[in-house]
Amino acid sequence: MYEIFMRSFADSDGDGIGDLKGITSRLDYLDSLGVEGLWLTPFNKATSYHKYDVEDYYAVDPEYGTMADLQMLVQEAHRRDIKVLMDLVINHCSSSHPWFKDACSGPDSPYRDWFVWAQRDIIVSEPEHWHFVPGSDTSAPDVEKYYGFFWSGMPDFNFDNPAVRAEMKKIGAYWLTVGGVDGYRLDAAQHIYPEGETSKNHVWWREFRKSMDEVKPGFFMVGEIANKNEVVAPYLQGGMHAAFNFDLATDILKEINAEEDHGLVYRLVGIRDLYYSYSSSYIDATFVSNHDQNRIMTVLGDDPAKAKLAAAILLTLPGSPYLYYGEEIGMRGQKPDELIREPFPWTYDANDPLTTRWESPVYTIAGQVNCLAAQCEVSTSVYASYLSWISLRRSEPCLYDGNVRPVDVSDAHLLAYRRSLKGQQDIIVLHNLSHVAVEATDARSWGIVETLAGPAYTVGSKDRFIVPPFSTCVFRLK
Ligand code: CA
Repeated sequence: MYEIFMRSFADSDGDGIGDLKGITSRLDYLDSLGVEGLWLTPFNKATSYHKYDVEDYYAVDPEYGTMADLQMLVQEAHRRDIKVLMDLVINHCSSSHPWFKDACSGPDSPYRDWFVWAQRDIIVSEPEHWHFVPGSDTSAPDVEKYYGFFWSGMPDFNFDNPAVRAEMKKIGAYWLTVGGVDGYRLDAAQHIYPEGETSKNHVWWREFRKSMDEVKPGFFMVGEIANKNEVVAPYLQGGMHAAFNFDLATDILKEINAEEDHGLVYRLVGIRDLYYSYSSSYIDATFVSNHDQNRIMTVLGDDPAKAKLAAAILLTLPGSPYLYYGEEIGMRGQKPDELIREPFPWTYDANDPLTTRWESPVYTIAGQVNCLAAQCEVSTSVYASYLSWISLRRSEPCLYDGNVRPVDVSDAHLLAYRRSLKGQQDIIVLHNLSHVAVEATDARSWGIVETLAGPAYTVGSKDRFIVPPFSTCVFRLK
């Protein structure tokens, strides 16, 4: 899966802003990378550059194109066996949405109860999430505040109101049918109800799933529940098909920076067992970074060897891996948010019509990150590394669909795991997380018959097997 930050990926009409047609024009690139699905960040009409504050749930933002452009993108993606997920943001809307503006007109508005209101004097918890309507008489004793978890510009919907629930299902059905998308990435899925009412979130998402299943059997929904796995798990029971594995993302980066394994696969197996106890068919949405997190290359100290290692780990573990655009060329960036969402550098040619120019990049610039065109020419580029790991994953059913269990090794600089799939020979993946070469003394007992990636292991060798710094070996076993 490949996450596209709409504004930054590819421009089709020379206004410097990424758009739907731009993405369509790059589908061959995504196809050749091995991408099987897209997650498009929001494209509903909105005011902000990121568009997570929707003003019209039934419109494509004109900055990004038209409904026809979306339909064409979906059609062309499907022609290449690429699915399309839309980022659906229904926890809140923009404070400039007509529904909210009407609701602010007073208690008699038909939309008043679409949002969450409380008198100032009875707000005792989470006061930072409650806001006065601009221009209201804040000294009046009965003045009300509205609930906006993220900020005042994004008022939360009241999901206790049946009309709100019905409207959200109508929106969900609209984009699955008219837009043709295959499913949803569900933004802020854990914030539908405030903390303390979490079980009502689970009920809502089950209801939404059931409703969408009727509209489009086989549709797919993956939830953003940025929380510990214990909190994530119940969302998988009859609700989300998949949930992002935030714990694993943190673990991968932490272990690479520590240059040691501290039980990553043991924890992953624990998470998988927990999720399976809620849903036998859940899909683990694995990733290392997304549009809310600092870029992998930057977190790993601008070391391409470490960035390649992150790719090797993500792409040899089970699950459905999500790649944030630009990670495949090692884009750099850290917060503020705009700087982790910089233009994808197809080239650094000032006249390149494809590269977006809505902001001036600070991190992903010539001399710091090679553009895609340059990386395509170099066999040691970060891009070449992603290409080979994705290709290996897709050619080995065991890596694509197999189970995982830890393999104990005697040196903490090494991370090893075994992948198994019925009817296939097991595979062992061995990473050296450190900057020094490490001897893999345990490898002799594994029964290696073939090296699929990395330095070759000689069958029956009595020689020492040395794993080079920051490298990965993949072996097929007897
Ligand atoms: Ca454009």
